[in-house]
Amino acid sequence: MIEDKNQARTSLAELGEFGLIKHLTQNFKIAHSTTIKGVGDDAAVLDFKNKQVIVTTDLLIEGVHFDLSYMPLKHLGYKAVMANLSDVYAMNGMASQITVSIAVSNRFPLEAIEELYEGIHLACKNYAIDLVGGDTTSSVTGLLISITAIGEAKAEDVVYRNTAKTNDLLVVTGDLGAAYLGLQVLEREKQVFEVNPNSQPDLTNYSYLVERQLKPEARKDIIKLLKDLDVKPTAMIDISDGLSSEILHICEQSNVGCNLYEEKIPLDPQVIATCEEFDLNSTTIALSGGEDYELLFTISQEDFPKIKANPHLTVIGHITDKSHGANLVTRAGQQIELTAQGWNSIK
Ligand code: ADP
Ligand code: MG
Repeated sequence: MIEDKNQARTSLAELGEFGLIKHLTQNFKIAHSTTIKGVGDDAAVLDFKNKQVIVTTDLLIEGVHFDLSYMPLKHLGYKAVMANLSDVYAMNGMASQITVSIAVSNRFPLEAIEELYEGIHLACKNYAIDLVGGDTTSSVTGLLISITAIGEAKAEDVVYRNTAKTNDLLVVTGDLGAAYLGLQVLEREKQVFEVNPNSQPDLTNYSYLVERQLKPEARKDIIKLLKDLDVKPTAMIDISDGLSSEILHICEQSNVGCNLYEEKIPLDPQVIATCEEFDLNSTTIALSGGEDYELLFTISQEDFPKIKANPHLTVIGHITDKSHGANLVTRAGQQIELTAQGWNSIK
């Protein structure tokens, strides 16, 4: 729960900027032949031959995007990489390189930045990603992290948001809402801790939720799975802001509507139990909670037999004409217009 108070506190000034960069990057190994030059020159050099190059970037600011009182730095590093890789996979591409830029205030000793890079390093190892550059600077207060991910795909394999067609099936990977609930659990424990610093949090009933919040995994496996199943989605997006807002992106950009069936939305048993405990509506949480990093995609109906038995994939609805609108069909059979916040009937 609490920020790891490391015994050793080496000030960043002792190493200097170049010493720090060298220290942080020395253990990273290059895995891709597309990386011609990584860290150490004025710029990285990559060679993707006849592939299309996919580039995405994210900026994370302490106090806005993360809270270090319950987010260990190692997890933050891992998660920051995942958020970027997820965007590359959402294009049906394979991620291969990242750059990492950080701005650090003098509140952080070397040991803290080492922890952050441990998480980045683990993510690079687990997902076969080359760290090829970045920038290091100081900040007046707090920590900033910006990661850029680079990936590749054959031109004919890239999947956009704006190509869903009427009658396509709407498919989601994994389950939804857990990461948001994990955050609620951690925030509750933080408040308990502030009142009683001797309290020991018992998170056993919430282990899946907390893991989904602190150590999300980008769905690289799904990109391979879809290739193995010989399914090319007609449109795809990753779920970083909540199912509802991502469905609306696909519908708006593809000029279509949809029916999303409430009863089909995949939920983990811990999500259902915790929603009951916290008196929350699990559908609202799945629609509006963020940071699940699952993939949402549409497929042509012809491809349904190829995906139907797969435990990672759930058909949650279908695409309609635009005139129909984007709707949630409730368990009671009622049709409610989807909004970016969930659906219209909630506040
Ligand atoms: P420049 O002055 O040309 O911007 P830097 O001294 O900032 O170069 O960086 C030197 C090398 O170290 C470059 O390859 C750069 O991409 C890399 N680098 C700098 N900061 C980081 C970082 N935080 N993480 C990974 N690589 C970094
Ligand atoms: Mg620089």
